[in-house]
Amino acid sequence: MSSELLVVRGLSAEWDRVPVLRDVDLDVGPHELVTLLGPNGSGKTTLLRCLAGLERPRSGSIRLGGREIGALPTHRRGIGMVPQEPSLFPHRTVVENVAYGLLVQRRPDPEVRARVAELLERLDLGRFAARYPAELSGGEQQRVALARALAPDPELVLLDEPFASVDPEYRAELRSDFRRILRDQGTAALHVTHDREEGLYLGERTILLLAGRVAQVGSPSEVFDRPASPEVARFLGYNLVTEGPRTTAVAPEDVAIDRPGPGRRPATVEAIGPVGRDWWVRLRLEDGTVLSSRFPRGGPAPEEGSRVGVRFDRERSWGPGAA
Ligand code: ADP
Repeated sequence: MSSELLVVRGLSAEWDRVPVLRDVDLDVGPHELVTLLGPNGSGKTTLLRCLAGLERPRSGSIRLGGREIGALPTHRRGIGMVPQEPSLFPHRTVVENVAYGLLVQRRPDPEVRARVAELLERLDLGRFAARYPAELSGGEQQRVALARALAPDPELVLLDEPFASVDPEYRAELRSDFRRILRDQGTAALHVTHDREEGLYLGERTILLLAGRVAQVGSPSEVFDRPASPEVARFLGYNLVTEGPRTTAVAPEDVAIDRPGPGRRPATVEAIGPVGRDWWVRLRLEDGTVLSSRFPRGGPAPEEGSRVGVRFDRERSWGPGAA
């Protein structure tokens, strides 16, 4: 018997006979915030839709709190969902939207009123109670969507890129709001994103999905600092250098640029430009491999076209003799 809340085993799904999820195993513990990170098209939304009962997998089992829910209709699974796009009922007020799931469950009126009032207060939405969704910003709409998903007190909430349509300057605030509220409520969450930075922030555990397969599971820092394969490293933004049967991954921050010299790889500076507080440099090694290097502005910057020596301060290798 597992102590996990959500236990998914061998989940496979296909669209038009093309496999989209391949034998996915995944666990979410009670109260745990898990991030499902992967590039566009890796199958994240399909996975969430299978969990929510909106899509039928080809095979596999989905257990929540010890019971198999794979055959249950969406509303009986005990799962809340916050989709990517604002999805509120446009002709209902904020209060009516948040109350919706409770009314479907035919909870008594005083209980509905109390629960809705509590959530509006916790999510700092009280002043919007009588407004319609069109009268709210994207971020406010997503907070209402979270309140609506939490109202029936689900065991698990699925968040599908919930900040995608929110202006970047509000995203960080909304992310920390979501995390605080989910922790306060003690609700477990599976948060889908293709954004590496967001994948680092929200979850206690990261599950990396590549081409429909689980490629790595670990704490965000384990996954980011110790990618399990070259494919994971590439998705996380590492440079890949192939030498014979050996592949080495180096983060742009770990590619140091110096004068040509012994122990340094000869390279040419193809381009350099400022990005925020950093220089981003595009380098070409003698075998044609292109590398990115990133380091704080302030010190001297190499000139475009110049010959330099490149050192890897930290690297991770796969293949014969790899560390
Ligand atoms: P992600 O959420 O990671 O971007 P999706 O689950 O949306 O990935 O898509 C995974 C794959 O399934 C993609 O190749 C996509 O083209 C395909 N797919 C998704 N939805 C449909 C659909 N309704 N019909 C056919 N193929 C689909």
